Amino acid sequence: MEKEIIQFFIDVVGKENVKHSTAQLLAYSYDATANFQALPEIVVSPRNTEEVCQIVKICNEYKIPIVPRGSGSNLAAGTVPNQGGVVILFNNMNQIIEFDRENLTITVQPGMITADICHFVEKENLFYPPDPSSMKISTIGGNISENSGGLRGLKYGVTKDYVKGLTVVLANGELLKTGGKLAKDVAGYDLTALLVGSEGTLGVITEITLKLIPLPKNKMTSIAYFHSLEAAAETVSTIIANKIIPVTLEFLDKKTIEAVEQFMKIGLSTDVEAMLLFEQDGELAQVKNDIHEMTQIAISKGATFTQIAKDETEAERLKTARRVALSALSRLRPTTILEDATVPRSEIAEMVRRINQIAKKYDLTIATFGHAGDGNLHPTCLTDIRNSEEMKRVEHAFEEIFEAAISLGGTITGEHGIGEMKAPYLEWKVGASGIEMMKGIKAVFDPKNIMNPGKVFCKGN
Ligand SMILES: Cc1cc2nc3c(=O)[nH]c(=O)nc-3n(C[C@H](O)[C@H](O)[C@H](O)COP(=O)(O)OP(=O)(O)OC[C@H]3O[C@@H](n4cnc5c(N)ncnc54)[C@H](O)[C@@H]3O)c2cc1C
Repeated sequence: MEKEIIQFFIDVVGKENVKHSTAQLLAYSYDATANFQALPEIVVSPRNTEEVCQIVKICNEYKIPIVPRGSGSNLAAGTVPNQGGVVILFNNMNQIIEFDRENLTITVQPGMITADICHFVEKENLFYPPDPSSMKISTIGGNISENSGGLRGLKYGVTKDYVKGLTVVLANGELLKTGGKLAKDVAGYDLTALLVGSEGTLGVITEITLKLIPLPKNKMTSIAYFHSLEAAAETVSTIIANKIIPVTLEFLDKKTIEAVEQFMKIGLSTDVEAMLLFEQDGELAQVKNDIHEMTQIAISKGATFTQIAKDETEAERLKTARRVALSALSRLRPTTILEDATVPRSEIAEMVRRINQIAKKYDLTIATFGHAGDGNLHPTCLTDIRNSEEMKRVEHAFEEIFEAAISLGGTITGEHGIGEMKAPYLEWKVGASGIEMMKGIKAVFDPKNIMNPGKVFCKGN
């Protein structure tokens, strides 16, 4: 990058908020996605919206690519600067702007860590439900840009259900304010909804107003083990068919249970095919009733063992099994690739069977866990990036997994987004006309294609 342009950025944010030596840039050349890497030319950390506007205006003038970056925990190579350019970091923009008790909203800067928002509002007896497993490290700006889900999605929905308003710096450096604190607002197109999940390709989000709800008073947790995938999957569908909507309804397959037990030694049974984890919250009588009914349904479908946590400590121990699934699996081989195929709930058993067949066909180890209540599975391949022949097999296996998900009425991603990694497959889900519409929207927001270029769309589609 030319010295003159580097100096422009230093003038805007100060020397201490600019990184441009190769050693500094390396840390921003990758994210949580295996096998994708590219160096940015510069990393800048603005301190407020006005500075973001100035940075974007410079990029617009010189046609410099912009990659907004939260914590870089996305799993779709969404923050890999594959065309170089400027990484905008939000580590200096991580404060609460306003907490509004009367309207039950909180307005925050995009670099705030999601778990910090949850803890802050819980002290006020309020609840921000979206809880990606990465919530202790990921930022709210990243969550919004990926429309992240989490363990509480079945009952409470995902990030988009809580975003009421945004301040966005557009690709020409102008400001756009969408939505607000209103309970009702149908003035024109819903630009807030369009920007949620836009993966940094439409603008830079600098302020976020979130909806809060009352904190549930009680919660209970239980687990059930099964000797067949079908029994576990039927339990999931029967629970929902019985009009019970638990907060959490998570699935772990045999390989995942074995890895977790080996890692944490929490006393899980490893001689089973599947485990379900249930959690319910709300009024005590209702919570007890729902947990009891879910346990009875599991038993009626052939659960070999069920356990209701007797207190919060035991509940935390059971929930650990699901929380550490990815960490436990990633200890087994040098490279872990976590995927995100989603199918209708009724197809979970068939999808897991197909994943296992595909793993066998390509001689790979693929463990599966995920949000069973949402039909959102995370087939996780344990591999080694240094083995190029094995990586080819991994690529083919995941292509077949995406095809299988779509053939069962599902999608190629339930919560991790498209980024660079899944761009070649987007058309499989949305069709040629879907791609054309989306490209049209992108062109209106970002005519010079400087906002996170090379993400969501690829040359082939
Ligand atoms: C261990 C682990 C567990 C995970 N669990 C879950 C889970 O349960 N559910 C789930 O949905 N995901 C999960 N993820 C994926 C990831 O954590 C989420 O996608 C998260 O929202 C990314 O947040 P981030 O701050 O790291 O964003 P980044 O990875 O830095 O960025 C994500 C995207 O947002 C864009 N972006 C970031 N900030 C802005 C901004 N201010 N303006 C415009 N665009 C912006 C980036 O350009 C990029 O496209 C997990 C990841 C890991 C590693």
